[in-house]
Amino acid sequence: MSSLTCSLVKERCIACGLCAVYAPEIFDYDEEGIVLFTQEPTSTHQYIANDQYDATLKAYQKCPVRAILIEKE
Ligand code: SF4
Repeated sequence: MSSLTCSLVKERCIACGLCAVYAPEIFDYDEEGIVLFTQEPTSTHQYIANDQYDATLKAYQKCPVRAILIEKE
């Protein structure tokens, strides 16, 4: 099973809100609507657990500005 790491490029985020619709356990927003990780709000990298792969990939695909990056290992 490959592992998945997710990174956020916050300066690209346009606060559209889509990522937390698709993966609310992974993505949340600060008070200005800019993406952050639900579990670790101050982090820009996060390891994604297996049960969140599909939701995270969906959010990655839906982000209109590629503020979410995915790395498979
Ligand atoms: S989908 Fe992309 S642009 Fe929209 S809030 Fe999430 S990270 Fe930001």
